[in-house]
Amino acid sequence: MGAPRGSGAVPRFWQGQTPKTTLDPALAGDLCAMFSEIEGVGGPGEDPSRGYTRSAWTAQDLALRDWFARRAGSLGLRVGTDSAGNQWAWWDSPHGPRTAVTCGSHLDSVPSGGAFDGPLGVISSLAAVASLQRRGLTPSCPLAIVNFSDEEGARFGIACVGSRVLTGVLDAERALGLVDAEGREAREILREAGQDLSAYGADPELLASIATHIELHVEQGRALADKGAPVGVATHIWPHGRWRIDIGGEANHAGTTPMGDRDDALVAAAALILRVREIALARGARLTVGRLGIEPGATNVIPSRVRLWVDARAGDSATLDAALADLAEWSPLNESLTPATSFDEDVRERLCAASTRVLGAATAEGTAAGHDSGILQDAGVPCGMIFVRNATGFSHTPREYATLADCTAGAAVLVETLEERTRAR
Ligand SMILES: [Zn+2]
Repeated sequence: MGAPRGSGAVPRFWQGQTPKTTLDPALAGDLCAMFSEIEGVGGPGEDPSRGYTRSAWTAQDLALRDWFARRAGSLGLRVGTDSAGNQWAWWDSPHGPRTAVTCGSHLDSVPSGGAFDGPLGVISSLAAVASLQRRGLTPSCPLAIVNFSDEEGARFGIACVGSRVLTGVLDAERALGLVDAEGREAREILREAGQDLSAYGADPELLASIATHIELHVEQGRALADKGAPVGVATHIWPHGRWRIDIGGEANHAGTTPMGDRDDALVAAAALILRVREIALARGARLTVGRLGIEPGATNVIPSRVRLWVDARAGDSATLDAALADLAEWSPLNESLTPATSFDEDVRERLCAASTRVLGAATAEGTAAGHDSGILQDAGVPCGMIFVRNATGFSHTPREYATLADCTAGAAVLVETLEERTRAR
């Protein structure tokens, strides 16, 4: 699979960029080598517009898991799988509760996704450990790299399954009962992939051993590009949720009912959708209507009922509440709500300090997308995130992009943070 280590290979999306022109050529060389090694797995082949398809527990995902185990093994790390199907590679050291420093992300993707969402965090973590080893560091505490399973939720419809099961917020039986588009149960698929399901579920002891968890991720918007910053530190994940609105009307004949006599639920819904957009713009929130159910749903019948869903997100809960209050007259029914997740303040300060030492500046920002580290933070594990500038601002599409120089800058901040956290005290 791909070129061997140290071959000087550069993945296709970085052709023309050289490690030498980055902050840390050796670190950049490792990023290039590893991205080259996995480029062909679920990759676009000759057609970059196809992107990467690496759904959880498919042959592509299993190939990436094998690659992770081999790569981590070559660094001398002890590789294993936790009770929720996530892979961990440990650089062991004597430890007790809340002593381990961990980092990582995920290797799975959405269908036709970009090259960076997920793999950048795992590859940067492997490259960071190699960099620490080159410096001759022996960590004073356990250090581990994690590859979270099924982060994208592309196959079974629930995101962050690996971290949700690990923390217990997703019931193990429910997770195993999830069904993919072909009607196959997760239980059967995981068993086929060689997972031991006898103890499938949460592992509070593993979580309690972690003092700090850091996830490096490509940014999923264009805030860093707009600020001219190569790297950002996450402050919090936006509060977000889904609301359902039912709009009533009256069914009648499309031909015999004069326009003035109609009670058309879909016309009312159309006005509401435009109003939702106005509210979002006025409040500085992000509101989206992406799904409608129309009854009776016949071409020649005036719609009698429309059910629509509003996905609502905002930078803070006050803004979200204000936007929802503007919708109150339509009596939105809440279906799910995830409050804001604030990342650990101490971890955030350490990441900002590391960013300042390495890059001369630190840029902090919130994120509107969910991540495994948000699930862990909500479960009481002190977490932080490093974002790498996304040059296009596109995410979950083949257009997602980060330069080699920016990725190296992000990985260098990770190295600096790990070095500071694991140095003998
Ligand atoms: Zn991701």
